[in-house]
Amino acid sequence: MAILFRPVFDYDERDWLPLLKRELAHFDVRVAPDAGDPADIHYLVGWKLFEGDKNKWPNLKAVLPLSTGVDRFIGHPDFPDNAQLVRMIEPGLNQGMAEYVASFTLRFHRAHDRWQHEQAQKNWQHDIPKLAHQRTIGFLGLGNLAQSCIDMLKPFGFQMRGWSRSAKTMTGVETFHGNDQLKAFLQGCEILICLLPLTPETENILNRDTLSALPQGACLINPARGKEIVDEDLIALLDGGHLQYAALDVFRKEPLPADHPFWNHPRILVTPHIAAVTIPETGAQALRQAIETIEAGGTPAGLVDRKRGY
Ligand code: NAP
Repeated sequence: MAILFRPVFDYDERDWLPLLKRELAHFDVRVAPDAGDPADIHYLVGWKLFEGDKNKWPNLKAVLPLSTGVDRFIGHPDFPDNAQLVRMIEPGLNQGMAEYVASFTLRFHRAHDRWQHEQAQKNWQHDIPKLAHQRTIGFLGLGNLAQSCIDMLKPFGFQMRGWSRSAKTMTGVETFHGNDQLKAFLQGCEILICLLPLTPETENILNRDTLSALPQGACLINPARGKEIVDEDLIALLDGGHLQYAALDVFRKEPLPADHPFWNHPRILVTPHIAAVTIPETGAQALRQAIETIEAGGTPAGLVDRKRGY
């Protein structure tokens, strides 16, 4: 029984491999391309699938991405059908996402970009700023990462609401669910945070129609997936003044192409898909837990429902 680790980035062998060898010391950890006999491989660990994976590993039990977003794995034509897909769930990702979302939420809430703009004009237009308890922030998606963002932002006193696929009850969060309640949810969100997985249902979900349902002057934070936004519609609503600012960490094409209008848009802030990065120390521990759970016949925390798409 062997685990095949497939390095892609420079830091994989330097940062990940020693920790994987330490955490998985009681397993046979092999490093691609030295897989040995394909029949030995029970687990594939890495950032992506490779051509031929579908039929290459006869005894594969699970594919374990190092990322928590698994749209590229689910949609991959070479996904090995005999295997489970187990996404990465580890506390470093949650902390990272909560910091990213909280920092942009406070920045938009306190209008730092407006003051910076007025500084450049040397002309301040004063008004009375809203306090957090007078501001409503909304989460598209109420899953693992949204929960950490909610926990981090709760002490500020924001009014919070969230939208999910299934009905939920959450203390201190007004909840909405399903397509029928999407507009009602959006109508109250002064700052909208998208934390939806990319699926056929969520692709292009932030379009002219839905973004127009947000209140005048709303801001958007999207660290989920670029294909959830219709780029031209977002730009049109920012240019038309309906939306104020957008912070985007993810894009339809990554890295963001040099000629993309997001780069120079005065009301768009872009970051290079760094909202939440898997931390090797805690990530390696999470991999060990997932593999041990599967070996013991249990269900690992990050088991993906491939039919549902997340
Ligand atoms: P998760 O735990 O699977 O939660 C997903 C949430 O979205 C759930 O609340 C789910 O509803 C809801 N949802 C899914 N499809 C829906 C639909 N059609 N309509 C309404 N709600 C829907 O996911 P997560 O761990 O929080 O991660 C969210 C996403 O963040 C990932 O998929 C990934 O794309 C992105 N991400 C980005 C970065 C970055 O660095 N930028 C890092 C990590 C993750 P139910 O609760 O009803 O199932």
